[in-house]
Amino acid sequence: MQLPLGSDPRTDQLKRIHAALIAAFGRIERPDTKRRDPVWTLVQGVIGARTKTAVSNAATDAMLERFGSWEAVAEAQIDELTALLSNQTFPEQSARRLKDCLTQIIAERGQVDLRHLSNLETADLMHWLETLPGIARKISAGIANTSIFERRAVVLDTHHRRVMQRMGLVAPKADTTRAYDALMPVVPEEWSAKDIDEHHLLVKRLGQTSCRPTNPTCASCPVRNECAYASA
Ligand code: SF4
Repeated sequence: MQLPLGSDPRTDQLKRIHAALIAAFGRIERPDTKRRDPVWTLVQGVIGARTKTAVSNAATDAMLERFGSWEAVAEAQIDELTALLSNQTFPEQSARRLKDCLTQIIAERGQVDLRHLSNLETADLMHWLETLPGIARKISAGIANTSIFERRAVVLDTHHRRVMQRMGLVAPKADTTRAYDALMPVVPEEWSAKDIDEHHLLVKRLGQTSCRPTNPTCASCPVRNECAYASA
């Protein structure tokens, strides 16, 4: 039997986790000035595999400054893009994926422009993005949630997914799409897109501190009382 929205115990668990993380780390709110154009957010995501956010942000700005438009980036030589992306963890792969992605947007829309997505429901918006090369659920959710689209979508990077899996909120072997599909229905209904963004940033901070990939420091973790791994 499917429980009505909001009555799932995982919803209350997420609220308690959120409060405990704010108590531990303080508020982590993304200022509106950091809410970027969806194309910028897409580019940052496509080139950003296993790379620090600040590095990918700088590379995204540098490409736009160098070429002047995303259409010009789509036409750039792979060698030149690879050189510009040399600080990314996978420069050539990032260059190829980005070129493929931007080229397909141009083929479908005539230019690199995602404004038409603002008319779509969030699920349809993300589905359209996921038809593009190099765009899977983490990036589509990032564009939906953290760009000026400002939609209710949880961004599950590797930190967030690992923490949710250890806590028992997501199946241990769930990939990002399965984890997203499991979590979104139990995210508190009253959480806005900004609340969900802050929740992600808080959980990510936990994943970078206590709940690292190896040897999590459960004894001092602020959410150990909510965690299946710690109580096992
Ligand atoms: S208690 Fe341990 S496994 Fe659970 S979230 Fe905290 S650090 Fe991670």
